[in-house]
Amino acid sequence: MKNKRFLGMKRVSALVLSLLVSCGALFSACDSKSKKAEDSSTEAASEAATEKATEETTESTTEPTTEVATESETEATEDYSPAPGEYYIPADTPYEKVTLDGIKEHHFIATDYCYIEEEKFVLLIEKDIDLPGDFADNVSEIIDEIEKQLGVSYAPDDHHYVGVTDNTVHYGMNPWEGWQLGKKIPIFLNVDPRNEGLISGASADETTFVMYELFSEDFWNSTSGFYDVEWRVRPEYVDYATIAHELTHTITLRQCDLTTILAEGIAQYMGGTVVDALAADHPSIAEFKENRYDFDYSIPEAVNASNAETIFLADYNEIDTAGRGAEYTYGKYLWKFLHDEYGEKFFSDAAKGFRPLASDDFDIYGEYDAEIVGQYADVLKKLYGDDVFTKFGKWCTKNHYLQEAS
Ligand SMILES: [Zn+2]
Repeated sequence: MKNKRFLGMKRVSALVLSLLVSCGALFSACDSKSKKAEDSSTEAASEAATEKATEETTESTTEPTTEVATESETEATEDYSPAPGEYYIPADTPYEKVTLDGIKEHHFIATDYCYIEEEKFVLLIEKDIDLPGDFADNVSEIIDEIEKQLGVSYAPDDHHYVGVTDNTVHYGMNPWEGWQLGKKIPIFLNVDPRNEGLISGASADETTFVMYELFSEDFWNSTSGFYDVEWRVRPEYVDYATIAHELTHTITLRQCDLTTILAEGIAQYMGGTVVDALAADHPSIAEFKENRYDFDYSIPEAVNASNAETIFLADYNEIDTAGRGAEYTYGKYLWKFLHDEYGEKFFSDAAKGFRPLASDDFDIYGEYDAEIVGQYADVLKKLYGDDVFTKFGKWCTKNHYLQEAS
């Protein structure tokens, strides 16, 4: 399907990748085990990467609403050096611990760095972020639902947990210096004050959201590059599919490394199924579901019994010719097929098989290697039969999935 969102993503994806890799903007690797899963699901934001950030940061003043309760955090002593994986928030942090009241209509607007602690994650919030009162609750529900649907824990014991990433390259300083969140997921909520075209993304160690609907109205209306760019829109509702997509990256990459198709596919698949599962009981997620523009990124060739495996093995590594976005779509239907055909252990069984394929000095998501992708295919064949890709191709043809190439 041709549309502006897709074209934008396609045009800038290579640039975005090189930009992110070169400046480490969203995916600073803490150690050799860090994985990156760049994301283009915020297509509008990625379009911005083509523009040079020339505007200077505009100061905006916002005030928190009265509905938000705050309390200060005192938990540890100064000059303490925590062990890796420990939970440690410096006692002398100048930043406020915030609690949301759970009410959608109430908003918290950050006037400085601040944070929200929950059972499975910590929101690390930049100034000018605007959160609806039910945001943290919804994120909690989404993580629970991802764990349930995938049959895995967000915090496996054998993952190597690192401290909070130093994002000085974005903030100009490190507000979270020395912080370690144990197994909790650090979730950065960022604005883009220099209009650098930042986009949401994730790794095993963190999730980052740069979403226009979480930018405060004052920030939006006073920052050149946003209010004055016609195609940029600040939605009235939160895109919970993107939230589920990125969190799925973090949760799955804590289990195993994944090829591009498998990584983007599972994230895209869960972005749909998690929203569908939670909409009935969660008004804000229902609101998103009603407004969502559901579409599949286009694929360069229709998938059938004879080419399904070949496509998997090539992993759309030639993004210029294949068209970035195809991996999201092919991967989404491959995971849907595995789920529908083989049941609820579809991911956890595969992850167990993929885990031994991990390498400390090679990231199959970012660096294509035909032999290693072949090993992923072999794991799927061992689990689901030698003809798994042939069956998948037939299933696609029969159900009219992945049939419209462009
Ligand atoms: Zn992604």
